[in-house]
Amino acid sequence: MATLRTVADDPVSYALNWKAAHSRPVIGSFPMNFPSEIVHAVGALPVIIQESKTPITEGRSMLAEFYCGYTRSVADQASIGELDVFDGFVVADHCVQLLGAVDAIRYSRPEKPVHFAQFTSAMDDAWTKPRVDGRISDLKTEIETVVRARLTDADLARSIKAFNENRRLLRHFYDLRRSGRARITASEMQLLVKSSMVMDIHEHTAVLLELLDRIVVRDEAPDDLVRLHLSGHFCHAPKPEILDVIEESGGLVVDDDLYTGFRYISTDVPEDGDPLAALSTWYLERNINAPCPTRVTNKVDWDTYLLESLEASRSVGVVVLMAKFCEPHMLYYPELRKALEAHGVQSLLIETEHEGIPIETLRTKMETFVERIRRHPSPLPA
Ligand code: SF4
Repeated sequence: MATLRTVADDPVSYALNWKAAHSRPVIGSFPMNFPSEIVHAVGALPVIIQESKTPITEGRSMLAEFYCGYTRSVADQASIGELDVFDGFVVADHCVQLLGAVDAIRYSRPEKPVHFAQFTSAMDDAWTKPRVDGRISDLKTEIETVVRARLTDADLARSIKAFNENRRLLRHFYDLRRSGRARITASEMQLLVKSSMVMDIHEHTAVLLELLDRIVVRDEAPDDLVRLHLSGHFCHAPKPEILDVIEESGGLVVDDDLYTGFRYISTDVPEDGDPLAALSTWYLERNINAPCPTRVTNKVDWDTYLLESLEASRSVGVVVLMAKFCEPHMLYYPELRKALEAHGVQSLLIETEHEGIPIETLRTKMETFVERIRRHPSPLPA
């Protein structure tokens, strides 16, 4: 775990060391739908840019205060040179705030290649798949140019297998946690997923296999803790101290749909057929497996998905983690809350900020929430 913690806490140093050891480029990508396989397949290191812990200084003038903490942190990291290790940047999503952060990189580091693939967000239209196919093909060309290497189908197929294996292992940790028989705290689970976003995938898989060998699996799950689901928090990892307070208050986090969580590893890329086409299938399917309000789809909705997840993990309460000023989440949240209330599921909204939130106030709120569930247990969603 110490190795993963070091990498997750300081992805830029990991990328610098990797680059020195391999003499290969490092490509930064952005949440939440970029297929890292395509970068890995040309021999570069794909790294999903993380929020930095440091206070925002020079970047303050680049994006307004009402941008989410993640985007303001990215703009700041770009302006102080923290992202200079990256040889290029790629983005597939088009949350308006994320685009602002990408523009801040373009402005402060004009010499760096930045490619915006813009995957279609209306998922059900007849032209969605062909258009995403086209964007992935453009992305391939762009990455080949920046990395100065040709991408072959065979290399991409190998990378797809490597990432699928890593996702499967991470989902196995999720299954163990849901059963309640293996104690994996919310901050440990976040560490497992966050490190997979920034580390060489083969190295990460080797560490996961070692951890799986050593994990203690009990015969029985503890029955004195309130089983909770963590929901929301797009694009970046909630601060570990928030996750720790949630569990110190008598809650046991057994599942989540966080981006730095189950959302990231929900879907594998098909391993048969054309590997480039498989990446667009992955893009379309992951919104069905873990629906997201940044995509528009008629087939599924997040509230139904959440209620079904609660039933599967036997969670009796939901803690909603919302990054301040995250518009897609703010706009969808009333729907989610209505659905939870209609099913008698108790929930607590925690708004997070880059600058941090008062932990003792959070502790009091969490303890009250857990006590309320103990006194008035919600029915398990049917
Ligand atoms: S989806 Fe939310 S967290 Fe992500 S960039 Fe947009 S506003 Fe920020």
